[in-house]
Amino acid sequence: MEINGPVLDTTPLSATYIQTAPPPLDAPTLVDRLKVDVAVVGGGYTGLSTALRLAESGGRVAVLEAREVGWGGSGRAFGQVVPYAKHDDAAVLKHFGPQWGERLVAGLAGGPDLVFGLITQHEISCEAVRAGLIFAAHNQAAIAGLDQRARFWRDRGADVELVARDVVIALTGSRYYEAALLDHRGGTLNPLGYARGLAWAAIRGGAMLFENSRVIGLNQTGGGWRLVTARGEVNAAQVVLATDAYTDDLWPGLRQSLIPLRAYQLVSAPLSENLRRSVLPGGQSLSDTRRLYSGIRRRADGRLHLSVDGPAFSNTGTAFAAKSSKRLRDLFPQIGELAWEHAVAGWVGMTEDQYPHIHRLAPGLIAAIGLSGRGIAFGTLLGRDVFRRLTGVPEHDWMLPDTPLRPIRVKPVARPLVGALLNTYRLLDRWDLRHNAAG
Ligand SMILES: Cc1cc2nc3c(=O)[nH]c(=O)nc-3n(C[C@H](O)[C@H](O)[C@H](O)COP(=O)(O)OP(=O)(O)OC[C@H]3O[C@@H](n4cnc5c(N)ncnc54)[C@H](O)[C@@H]3O)c2cc1C
Repeated sequence: MEINGPVLDTTPLSATYIQTAPPPLDAPTLVDRLKVDVAVVGGGYTGLSTALRLAESGGRVAVLEAREVGWGGSGRAFGQVVPYAKHDDAAVLKHFGPQWGERLVAGLAGGPDLVFGLITQHEISCEAVRAGLIFAAHNQAAIAGLDQRARFWRDRGADVELVARDVVIALTGSRYYEAALLDHRGGTLNPLGYARGLAWAAIRGGAMLFENSRVIGLNQTGGGWRLVTARGEVNAAQVVLATDAYTDDLWPGLRQSLIPLRAYQLVSAPLSENLRRSVLPGGQSLSDTRRLYSGIRRRADGRLHLSVDGPAFSNTGTAFAAKSSKRLRDLFPQIGELAWEHAVAGWVGMTEDQYPHIHRLAPGLIAAIGLSGRGIAFGTLLGRDVFRRLTGVPEHDWMLPDTPLRPIRVKPVARPLVGALLNTYRLLDRWDLRHNAAG
């Protein structure tokens, strides 16, 4: 894959998600001329959440998706619904300043309520489990950071606690960790199921949705915008670009504002009934404080689902299976060897500051991209933030500020730089695990 070109996804959506997701939309291809209030480009959480709200508020809205709903990150995520950004809350407040920082921290804290609320409201069948998230300390130094995070949230009345080794063992079945943060607000789901459920809800609400309808032209007209696909055309007063890592060259400079990174997961054969009683028996998802790839969750059918390492810039690469098996052995020696039966891979859209951005590209043209690997709750919230802008909600009720479109400064050398950074993180994680492992 050429890092400086748009990324494609030739990997099909994974059977592990298709099996328990609502049926595909099988939406029509656009072959007509249409006139709408808002055209949304991209059928992932950000675009679908925008479209759902617009449709429910009576707007005429069309979603145009190049492939099928959930073809991007939204059908390929690991499945954690997290009430935080990538960075810790103190860093968010510092980066955005007290006013916007507070809005973002508070907005993200409400993300799981929003997601699980939509799932209940629209009866979306997507393996939703709101049993909380465990963030375990991978070494002694990390415990202090988790303690600080727990205090930050407890001071704000959130249901977050620091738990000691015996509780971690009971919750996870692993003797590897000394302490962990248990955040009762988060949970997990089948990402493809959630994306399809949002799309079905948007259609029921009155949105039009077109699949296999890549937008290949975007021009300003007297009254708004003209979007051109291979066989049709949409005239829209306003346009939302919600294409995240899969952003192509539809708008100059947009793709250059992020770096796509490939991320991977592996799903094991089902655990025996006996092991299911001790390995993550409460249904929480387990991550640790290492820098890279630590998520593990147990699916309803008893399989372990891991976020794992793999080639960061390859469209056709596969996850590092041997490394993933070793990690499983380290954490759960009682399990023994487990076969990997499913794989998931997709592109994450990283921005330079690792926050998503909302750009006003021109009058009536908004882009909301750069989810940086945190998009199930954040993308749903981002769609709501875009909706608020489109419908004239005043700025003090937005979660994120608008930011100017800027290319990533290091984009021409991004591949070697990011590659080197990932290798450094891999080494540091290995070092930490060897020298500081708590258990
Ligand atoms: C492997 C992996 C694991 C992840 N794990 C998690 C997790 O556990 N928790 C979490 O919160 N987040 C996670 N994420 C991040 C999350 O999946 C994304 O942030 C989120 O899905 C982004 O949603 P989106 O709607 O903005 O973009 P996407 O879902 O990527 O949708 C963009 C869509 O735009 C379409 N498109 C592009 N160009 C055009 C065009 N010209 N015309 C029409 N359509 C176009 C694409 O086909 C695509 O479907 C993960 C991501 C990956 C890849």
